Amino acid sequence: MIQVNNLSKSFENINAVKDISFTIKRGEVFGFLGPNGAGKSTTLNMMSTIVKGDSGSIFIDGNDLSNNQNKCKQLIGVVPQEISLYDEFSAYQNLQFWGSLYKVPAKELKTRIEEILHLIGLYDRKDDLIKTYSGGMKRRINIASALLHNPKILFMDEPTVGVDPQSRNRIFEIVEKLNQQGMTIVYTTHYMEEVERLCNRIAIIDDGKIIAQGTKSELQKQSGVKEMVEICFKQINENQLNRLKESLQLNIIKTENCLSIECNANKDLSRIITVSNSFDLEIVDLELKKANLETVFLNLTGKQLRD
Ligand code: ADP
Repeated sequence: MIQVNNLSKSFENINAVKDISFTIKRGEVFGFLGPNGAGKSTTLNMMSTIVKGDSGSIFIDGNDLSNNQNKCKQLIGVVPQEISLYDEFSAYQNLQFWGSLYKVPAKELKTRIEEILHLIGLYDRKDDLIKTYSGGMKRRINIASALLHNPKILFMDEPTVGVDPQSRNRIFEIVEKLNQQGMTIVYTTHYMEEVERLCNRIAIIDDGKIIAQGTKSELQKQSGVKEMVEICFKQINENQLNRLKESLQLNIIKTENCLSIECNANKDLSRIITVSNSFDLEIVDLELKKANLETVFLNLTGKQLRD
């Protein structure tokens, strides 16, 4: 659905995007995960014709963006980071305005606005002025405005930043509903929980480069991140440690009376507990450290996702 080859962009002396390539398949939710300043918005802005790339190519549904901008624009809806709504108008009037900008025929527009207001769960508030809306509700109207011309692809740039937890969930549900209806979605965020919940495939982006891309489990494999069990005993001596190592045959690091054990939690956790009990080791603390995209990011870049 989207094919990007060797795309780069600099702003004066900042290389914001450095020679990135990726493919997004029809019907998937594709996530760009990376910290602030990684180049996510610049990438989306080039794909949505807001910013012109220095080099590289972008194809949207087979159309070359550099010589077929209008066709590409029809295919995509863009939800930008900044909220672009008129406070003194109602939600309905704002959507009417956006619909006319997108040249949606007046007859279709009414039905389309109503459909979308139902989808985003704000039909009952349609006649209220935007200035009475919460930040999260404004974001949902922003999403609605990107959908009026019935695009096949939706670009969403950090749509949950500054949004309360309830609205955040509503936004997730909207993304899921749209995707179920067949829409291809490109989603940028620095929240790993969001890509874990929403995205089929993920590109990890840092300092303008794609460090790795794939499904969550492919990324885990590429980064070499393992699950860990951290287990603390009241006391453990060298003899007990050696017997434990022999029985478990796992990679174990001991710090005082605690052990960090590299394992496959599903398979090994109950075995670790049973073997510990059989050696009369009294467990005082146990923590399972699952491999997640935060640890994948740390392993691949040496940095935390959020500072
Ligand atoms: P992200 O969306 O991942 O936070 P951006 O794409 O916004 O990252 O920014 C990538 C880099 O490019 C940053 O260093 C940012 O300061 C810089 N940048 C982005 N837009 C501009 C611009 N219009 N002018 C100058 N520098 C910019």
